[in-house]
Amino acid sequence: MKAWAGLALLLASCGPASGVRPPATVEAPYTPDSGTLLVRCGRFIDGLSDDVRSGVEPTIKIPKMRACETCSGSGAAPGTRPESCQHCGGQGQMVFQQGFFRVNRVCEICNGSGEIIREPTSSDLRSYRARRREQAREFEQRSRLRRMPTRTLDGADVRLLGNAESREDVAEAHALGATGIGLYRTEFLFLRGPQLPDEDEQFLLYRDLVLGMIGRPVTIRTLDLGADKADRSGLALSSEPNPALGLRGVRLSLSRRDLFVTQLRAILRASAYGPVRVLVPMVSRREEMLAVRALLHRCHADLLGEGMDLPECPPLGAMIEVPAAALALHSLASTVDFVSVGTNDLVQYVLAADRGNDALGDLYSPMHPAIIHLLHQIIATGRKYKIPVAMCGEIAGDPLFTPLLLALGLEEFSLHPATLLEVREKVRACHLGNLRRRTSSLLRATDRDTLERWLRRSSPD
Ligand code: PEP
Ligand code: MG
Repeated sequence: MKAWAGLALLLASCGPASGVRPPATVEAPYTPDSGTLLVRCGRFIDGLSDDVRSGVEPTIKIPKMRACETCSGSGAAPGTRPESCQHCGGQGQMVFQQGFFRVNRVCEICNGSGEIIREPTSSDLRSYRARRREQAREFEQRSRLRRMPTRTLDGADVRLLGNAESREDVAEAHALGATGIGLYRTEFLFLRGPQLPDEDEQFLLYRDLVLGMIGRPVTIRTLDLGADKADRSGLALSSEPNPALGLRGVRLSLSRRDLFVTQLRAILRASAYGPVRVLVPMVSRREEMLAVRALLHRCHADLLGEGMDLPECPPLGAMIEVPAAALALHSLASTVDFVSVGTNDLVQYVLAADRGNDALGDLYSPMHPAIIHLLHQIIATGRKYKIPVAMCGEIAGDPLFTPLLLALGLEEFSLHPATLLEVREKVRACHLGNLRRRTSSLLRATDRDTLERWLRRSSPD
């Protein structure tokens, strides 16, 4: 049973759903282990009751509710307010992403069965409370893992880094013993409004992140606006005919060098306070990395020329999330110091399945032989060319995938702190040697069913 501690208790106060209902207070509507959403008798989440009554697939709409959290990981940048979030469609609709699922329906929020008990009986509530207590116990037990190494049964060390979007995430990652920050998404700074953050503002934020990790490396991803990343700053072109294939990530940065230079200078200044790495999103070809490296070095030289006391230029890495970069990783080898696989986008581009389109059902899923083969190829090419390969897409933080990723040879996982201890627990229960012996059967899998069977057989639980 999973303890999704960060989401398990969600208290929301909303207005009456129909005018006759009292204001709703919802206690812990999210119980992922059972797939059950409990809504207390006579109380409703605003918007939910109407959907349920009309028999439409229910969605929870909670205006102004923690949109940054609900949207994080789903593609909308953290800090996105409902009205500017493309996933919410401005409705403040809850969008959870558990594991690899692209979700915004109740059934998916509940991880499967999707039962909603609108008027739970006392026995429903009793068993629900028992589950909550069980979750709390599990959380307590898992907390002991904070100080333990992430080491397989046969002694292989695995690096777990944090995906972070705020100072709080960084503090949590540090407290949980993350090896560093493997992905810091900088978009949110640019999503707050029409005012773009200047160099000093960015520098102060990045510096605090670096200081917060007390000597452990912080990987700062350069601006990744566009496509599913909502934009209030006006930088991304909302009129693009096909934004997911348009001017996003490094393409946007290289087309707006003034902004890019500002960001790179801020990152470089922060590097004076502790180890920093620079990660570039949406790379599709070598030329982009060469251009970024040249710019980074120029900024570094400029800052030194201005009298700043800086360490050497930080390591520069590329996100591998465009199939071209994955397939031709060898061509990037001499331009990068490391890479990080962004499976959220890679899956979307390989399968031609929009990560934000729920109508596609489970088409958007890493459980596809093409994805498994591509991940295997990326990791093998990284090894051949001595490029350290990390993974920062959602599946790195889904314990279900831990044995699979270990079998493929992944050694560095970057994940949201909420699941760090679960993944550590899973790694500690795995035997790397046994999993590696099963890699060839994994690569022979031809469909989702065989992949799921492989996972069931390989999971230590
Ligand atoms: C990814 O694409 O896997 C990724 C980590 O980046 P984002 O989800 O921010 O696009
Ligand atoms: Mg991405």
